[in-house]
Amino acid sequence: MQILSVLIQHSKLSLDRTFSYCYDGPTKVKPGCRVLVAFNNQQIMGYVDRVDETSLSKEDFSRLNGFEISYITSLIDVEPLLNEELHQLVDEVSSYYLAPKISVLQAMLPSSLKPAISSLRGPKIAYETWVEIVDEDEEGLTDKQKEALRLIKANGSILKKEVGSDSIANALRKHGKIRFVKKEKERFLIPEYEKEQKPRELTIAQKEAVENILHNDKEVVLLQGVTGSGKTEVYLKLSEEILSQGKNILMLVPEISLTPIMVEYFSRRFEGNVAILHSELTPAEKYDEYRRIARGDARVVVGARSAVFAPLKNIGLIILDEEHVESYKQDNLPYYHAREVAIMRGKHFGAKVVLGSATPSFETKARAMKGVYGYAELKKRINEKGLPKTTIIDLRDRKIMMPGDRVFSKVLIDAIKQRLQRKEQVILLINRRGYSSYVTCGNCGHIFTCPNCHGNLTYHREDELLKCHHCGYVEAYPDHCPECGKEKIMRVGFGTERIVKVLNEYLPEARIGRLDSDVGKVRKKVAKTLQEFRNFEYDILVGTQMIAKGHDFPNVTLVGLVLADIGLSQPSYRAAETTFGLITQAVGRSGRGEKTGDALIQSYNPFHYAVSLGAKQDYEAFYQKEMQQRKITRFPPYVFLIALKFAAKDEERCVRASVEFRENIERQFPESICLGPIVPYISFLAEKHRRLVLIKTRNPAEIKPYLGDLIHALSGKGGVDIECDVDPLDY
Ligand code: ADP
Ligand code: ZN
Repeated sequence: MQILSVLIQHSKLSLDRTFSYCYDGPTKVKPGCRVLVAFNNQQIMGYVDRVDETSLSKEDFSRLNGFEISYITSLIDVEPLLNEELHQLVDEVSSYYLAPKISVLQAMLPSSLKPAISSLRGPKIAYETWVEIVDEDEEGLTDKQKEALRLIKANGSILKKEVGSDSIANALRKHGKIRFVKKEKERFLIPEYEKEQKPRELTIAQKEAVENILHNDKEVVLLQGVTGSGKTEVYLKLSEEILSQGKNILMLVPEISLTPIMVEYFSRRFEGNVAILHSELTPAEKYDEYRRIARGDARVVVGARSAVFAPLKNIGLIILDEEHVESYKQDNLPYYHAREVAIMRGKHFGAKVVLGSATPSFETKARAMKGVYGYAELKKRINEKGLPKTTIIDLRDRKIMMPGDRVFSKVLIDAIKQRLQRKEQVILLINRRGYSSYVTCGNCGHIFTCPNCHGNLTYHREDELLKCHHCGYVEAYPDHCPECGKEKIMRVGFGTERIVKVLNEYLPEARIGRLDSDVGKVRKKVAKTLQEFRNFEYDILVGTQMIAKGHDFPNVTLVGLVLADIGLSQPSYRAAETTFGLITQAVGRSGRGEKTGDALIQSYNPFHYAVSLGAKQDYEAFYQKEMQQRKITRFPPYVFLIALKFAAKDEERCVRASVEFRENIERQFPESICLGPIVPYISFLAEKHRRLVLIKTRNPAEIKPYLGDLIHALSGKGGVDIECDVDPLDY
């Protein structure tokens, strides 16, 4: 008989240990396989962590160990899901992030191989359910249902999963508003690129960067290069070199559908050897692609965050393009950062890890400056093309604004008009979606807020609803104030929708496209909108930072940042860094082609160093200045942060648990700083109250083992769940 130590599928720290089951069958169970087991009278998925042989019978084993051991229900896999390296990586990631092992496995594996019961719902059949409108009448629907119906109406038909929640889709069908249509899933077509004829000759600066990285005695190297300096070509050359040494390449990008160009470059150069892990692959395709990589049939893997776990063997090079981008950090368990995991894997293989960025994260830059990482630089844009001419517009000066308008300055509107005449294109960035930033009563000042999380509600013109951007709550647009009853509802502030509307009034002839995460809700619309813009079907593209990253639009000669300051008001130690990053990325979008570009930045804080240095694209000066701030306020990279997240139905228990936890840490580690309990921005979610304790420490390696034990001991006690977010990006 075999005794199996099984991790069960629930990713709670209180259950983060193995449970024993036994197995007696013809096939031997190997560690790393999934098994179906009964747990609390439920059938759930387990992952076999260890296997021990015993000559005892089930009864003898139970008697000797003092508990009744059960048989597993069935064995799911015959061969282990993970190879030895990845198996070890699970331990390493879970102990670095103080996260349940099972959560690491779930982040690592494609959905059809995850240790979760849902993985059994067949990856093989690629059908998907679409919804179509039957009846547009909204009578008797809830606001959430209206929101969904309006989304479907606006798009003709959409995927059921794009409705947002199954229960809403089902309710709409029950009301006879929509019908479900089952269609075979379209395969995600990776375009067939022709093999590139002849790689470009590298510039001298690119050659130097390649040599530097290849011969650097540091494994991790920061490649810092302004936008348009030709980092991609460096990645390609490095990849060629490493492939010719017989080793494999892992290429990570922040978001595949936003960076199709990287896929194209790699596909063309390394034809036939490239696997792409794309979020739009069907589960079946992902499974196929995953297995193809595991078999060794692909030598180059291109993908976003979770591709850092690709079962590629013999890795010689890992590249993170735009390493500073937040999407590399998963914002739920296990809260891992792809950069950290890439470095762990790099160490294991003795591989080079290249971190590329125009505006590196402070952690990376500081390590490169201290010589922990190597440092390579591309100082100039290709062909010495200058950076765009940048002007800051002071929004506090009402005289320079369009009459009666607080959003558009005359300079910006004139500059846009000029581009329209010259048949050139414009990008306008505003880091807020929706129409207004909040809605208030003009009579009594009542502000419409979310009943769940108390944030302000945003007006969305497209479907005439008020929405909470934090928890998804919606309600109908009010016609009177619930406080004083007056019909004086005012919409204050602006987002992408309003920018489009106002622009339409100033420039009726302009063709305007919009791109934000509302648009991004419907699959493929992002790529489609970007392609249409590239084909010059729009003159102006209005969007959130989704369009600031990594695109090459040669005909864009003007970028306008409508309000540069939104990020500055965020309660995060990284507020200045993200604002600076947004401005430099935005400015870098202009003038990438033959023509030179302009950038106009509208701001209420024109003298804030993040704005003024962002406009100058002076990363080094910004880095120096901001590092002083971080030193004084004691934030990364001067200290490490660990956030502990408490959640409980009972608010008082939640507070008490976090206070006790904090006191415990302060007693144990007097030299670390503990803040909290902090009330997080979303203080109430999924029927639970939330609190936060933030630990600042210079020595995380010392504190983590103790912290890990403490969380294990306390999580789940008294109805309080604890999660840990190591190296959090907010706060
Ligand atoms: P980055 O990623 O640093 O912002 P890109 O890799 O997008 O920059 O390169 C900017 C532009 O320069 C691209 O249009 C690219 O095709 C071009 N380019 C890059 N390297 C070379 C080269 N060696 N010769 C000619 N053009 C190049
Ligand atoms: Zn809310």
